[in-house]
Amino acid sequence: MQRIYTVAEMQTQSDTWRGAGLRLGLVPTMGFLHEGHLSLVDHSLKVADRTVVSIFVNPLQFGPKEDFAIYPRDMERDLGLLTRRGVDAVFHPQPAEFYPLDFSTFVEVQDLTEGLCGAFRPGHFRGVTTVVAKLFTAVRPHLAVFGQKDYQQSAVIRRLVRDLHLGLHIEVAPTIREADGLAMSSRNINLSDDERQRASALYQALTMGKERIERGERHAAGLVADLRAHIAREFTDRIDYISIVHPDTLEEIAAITGPVVIALAVRLANVRLIDNIAAIPPEK
Ligand code: AMP
Repeated sequence: MQRIYTVAEMQTQSDTWRGAGLRLGLVPTMGFLHEGHLSLVDHSLKVADRTVVSIFVNPLQFGPKEDFAIYPRDMERDLGLLTRRGVDAVFHPQPAEFYPLDFSTFVEVQDLTEGLCGAFRPGHFRGVTTVVAKLFTAVRPHLAVFGQKDYQQSAVIRRLVRDLHLGLHIEVAPTIREADGLAMSSRNINLSDDERQRASALYQALTMGKERIERGERHAAGLVADLRAHIAREFTDRIDYISIVHPDTLEEIAAITGPVVIALAVRLANVRLIDNIAAIPPEK
């Protein structure tokens, strides 16, 4: 497995592969890898000829009071996992090259970034779309794989690629969960044992919501109130949002008459957890 540190070196390698007619897949990550990340890697290994995984804790997507400093990191372990999986290259952007002191160009997707996490993390998606645009420029992949776990992020990145004609495929892979349903996340390590146990309430709430929609519940506000009460009772009352939204526009829905996504974000101490589930109401 190659390790690549500079944009020039990455672009040269990409040109070589492209010149040989090979299809390149990119899996962007912030490291501290778990089975969720590795499922994206496996997907890329299956559909592409060469797979590049980027590992970069992107300072631009963290707010000043967020968890950049305590974001977990373990490069040696990550490299072992990726080598065993058969990844071709790991790209390690260097902060000084990616964000020189006079860095002044940002990529911003509007509308889709206003609600859900965007409302609680000002500047977060601007940081995400800027770094992803830079990663795409460095790696020049034919396809990039993202996780459904970050539902809004995947929608925003699809829009970025469409609006700027970036000419690559975005593939979204399903959320991988722990045995009790908690979505895998690098941030789960920052939960105490007790918090970790109670965190299964998030998936319980989502599945409860999905089942009620599938049984014909149409009134979003009432359903959201019940899910909120469950999470507040079992886990945390610091709920940024629980929303029932349109799968494409991410607009909040009042009467559930077609496919929706139930999305949520909660906080505990320094940890912020997000999750979501898709639900389709019965035909009338
Ligand atoms: P991160 O390292 O948290 O920035 O995540 C890198 C990529 O992995 C993103 O596309 C995430 O959506 C995806 N991802 C994170 N957790 C999971 C999970 N539990 N299941 C599937 N994909 C995930």
